[in-house]
Amino acid sequence: MTDDLLARHRAVLPDWMPIYYGDDAIEIVSGSGRRVVDGAGRTYLDFFGGVLTNMIGYDIAEINEAVQRQLATGVVHTSTLYLIRQQVELAEKIARVSGIPDARVFLTNSGTEANETALLMATNARRSNQILAIKNSYHGRTFATMAITGHRSWSSSSLSPLSVSWLSSADRLRGRMAGLGDGDLAEAAVDDLREVLATVTAGDVAALIAEPIQGVGGFVAAPDGVLGAYQKVLNESGILLIADEVQTGWGRTGSHFWGYQAHGVTPDLITFAKGIGNGFALGGVIGRASVMNAVPAISFSTFGGNPLSAAAGNAVLDYVLSHDLQANAAAVGTIVLDGLRALDLPIVAEVRGRGLMIGVEFVRPGTREPDPAATVRVFDECKAGGLLVGKGGLYGNVIRIGPALTLTEAEAREGLAILVDAITRVDAESR
Ligand code: PLP
Repeated sequence: MTDDLLARHRAVLPDWMPIYYGDDAIEIVSGSGRRVVDGAGRTYLDFFGGVLTNMIGYDIAEINEAVQRQLATGVVHTSTLYLIRQQVELAEKIARVSGIPDARVFLTNSGTEANETALLMATNARRSNQILAIKNSYHGRTFATMAITGHRSWSSSSLSPLSVSWLSSADRLRGRMAGLGDGDLAEAAVDDLREVLATVTAGDVAALIAEPIQGVGGFVAAPDGVLGAYQKVLNESGILLIADEVQTGWGRTGSHFWGYQAHGVTPDLITFAKGIGNGFALGGVIGRASVMNAVPAISFSTFGGNPLSAAAGNAVLDYVLSHDLQANAAAVGTIVLDGLRALDLPIVAEVRGRGLMIGVEFVRPGTREPDPAATVRVFDECKAGGLLVGKGGLYGNVIRIGPALTLTEAEAREGLAILVDAITRVDAESR
């Protein structure tokens, strides 16, 4: 690093903010397409996209122009007390692609705020503060969203404004390790839901919130259809289903536009953020009008749906749809998935995911024991090879791959080669 930015970061920002690569932390100073350049002039292929947020790529003309057009009006903020054309247009588009009939859309600045808002809607609509959440989940960094985050390293609050009951994540790898196939696991998950409802809740639960694929949790997914099976049970008592699509939305999973669609459900509320702004602060909630309008007081967000973020959101969504990025995610994701699956090495417990949301979980060879140290070595080797990837999972033993959905076939193969090389080297070391 050219100056002491890391020392200055450590001196002035709180200790609980994670930063990748420790003493070798990098500052990203420019980017183009799927590549970024650090302060030392080194170029990396980006397979993590700022935690699945840089969804279209860096320096994309269509997005730059849309934002510059809005900037040129001189209006970055007017407050939502006045009509904002960009906000209305974006809400209309999002409602159209949401799959929710009679959808209303509320725009926020982040995924956390989107989930806070969804909790507010659901608890008001149902007049209950009881929420069902999934173990190993991540939903945000505020008081209520931490209360529904089932991941010890990310949830720093044991106090809660909600009454939360926890369901199993129906993790397919852990299921397989226990001798359970997908069918058994799905059945056990529904039994678990019924048992939790009957035992530790008072019955009048407001909502169940779930990530269709757990992001921070290490790209863990329950078997397809589980959310649908849950919804049948929830419907018996009018309990709402909230799909947290902050990581899984907009076609990232390749097979579907929304993660929830793999489960044969229509959620009552969907929350989104990250990719829709391609870096601009933008998130939101979509829901049926009857639920969205249940909040009895007036409410607005000073910055949510501001003209600049909404202009970016409009350009991003137009780009996703006009370039069919969902199909691209499926095609190039398959190259990476198949290439990693072909590895078959003892330190690799599982290669999982769909589209461009791919996780590789590492264990000590010949055991089921998570190996976070090997994971860090793979992570560092990737960086040395010029590839940025993510780390995660409950045990810190998952490499997470979530590049921009515009990733080309050549870039997919280039990143795959670096990953294969890194994993093979670390596997050889660990024997
Ligand atoms: N929900 C999920 C599934 C997330 O992955 C995240 C962030 O990583 C959030 C919510 C919180 O979003 P934000 O960081 O924009 O507040």
